[in-house]
Amino acid sequence: MKYIEEFRDAALARTLAQAIGQAVEPGRTYRLMEFCGGHTHAIYRYGLPGLLPKAIKMLHGPGCPVCVLPIARVDQAIELAGRPGVILCSYGDMLRVPGSDRRTLLQAKAEGADVRMLYSIDDAVTLARQLPQRAIIFFAIGFETTTPATALAILRAQKLGLSNFFVFCNHLLTPAALDALLADSPNPGSWIDGFIGPAHVSTVIGTAAYQQVARRYRKPIVIAGFEPLDLLQAILMLVRQLNSQRCAVENQYHRVVRPNGNRLAQDYMAQVFCLRASFAWRGLGTIAASALALRPAFASFDAERHFPLADRLSREHPGCACPAVLRGQLDPAACQLFAVACTPANPLGACMISAEGACAAVYAYGRQP
Ligand code: SF4
Repeated sequence: MKYIEEFRDAALARTLAQAIGQAVEPGRTYRLMEFCGGHTHAIYRYGLPGLLPKAIKMLHGPGCPVCVLPIARVDQAIELAGRPGVILCSYGDMLRVPGSDRRTLLQAKAEGADVRMLYSIDDAVTLARQLPQRAIIFFAIGFETTTPATALAILRAQKLGLSNFFVFCNHLLTPAALDALLADSPNPGSWIDGFIGPAHVSTVIGTAAYQQVARRYRKPIVIAGFEPLDLLQAILMLVRQLNSQRCAVENQYHRVVRPNGNRLAQDYMAQVFCLRASFAWRGLGTIAASALALRPAFASFDAERHFPLADRLSREHPGCACPAVLRGQLDPAACQLFAVACTPANPLGACMISAEGACAAVYAYGRQP
């Protein structure tokens, strides 16, 4: 398949790995964080750690939207699902994330709540048309990749005149997360030398969106695609930048990503959403201006306004190390519960649930035999 198979060529992968081996400086370690959970899975799935020289240490970042959602928001979704007449819809992963007391939306469903797994928010709009007597709430999560679809769904619901469609909005902003990850330490980002920037998010926001973070913290960022050759090439670009003490934003994924991203998608987002003053992220703490809410003009679609929710405190599983894993400060396999009490069949933390979670990636592909 064009643009896929040629980026999985094993001989070229070995050549690139050799070039990385030749580029690394003797005695130096290069700690490179892939922000995006999709990259984490690709790195393990294609066995890149086995190809890379020991000098390259890959750190896994917070770019998994299921993983960074605080438990309190899961609890609130479960509370919404229990309201009379409500159908709570979301993507499959979200239904398995434990809230407080290890309760999930799937358990709420088993107890009688009407919880439905959907592949697209458009299906929730369709459901609202089909069932006008029910309140359809979509539990919306994700970074800038999924936000335009939510914006379009709300605009569609407005056009259709729907009064029973609502969004529980949990959309997050990538540059704010990068900034917070680096800022929150006496020695900002001292455990990270450079970043592999996300692919899908960058198609929407463009490479220009990362300039400020790269300059402020003097960290190189290379936007990369999801195939093994994309990632190896991005690693080589980062090593070369670090060797020459540069901290530029470079674009390996130029077959898709543009400097200014997708202006149409950005316009839809700006039309429907405004910034929240702050949002409490799992693993990263409370970050100012890092998440989106519906603009007042779309208040009638806002689940948080229509169904007032109690404030809740997030209560993590006491042994779960997700916050440190999400900051790239702990290898998933170093968590005391990894593959013992916490497995994909019995996940104790969000990082083991999501298809983009670092613990799930290491469990699936990265464990030592
Ligand atoms: Fe949390 Fe499980 Fe990952 Fe440990 S292995 S950090 S308990 S998700």
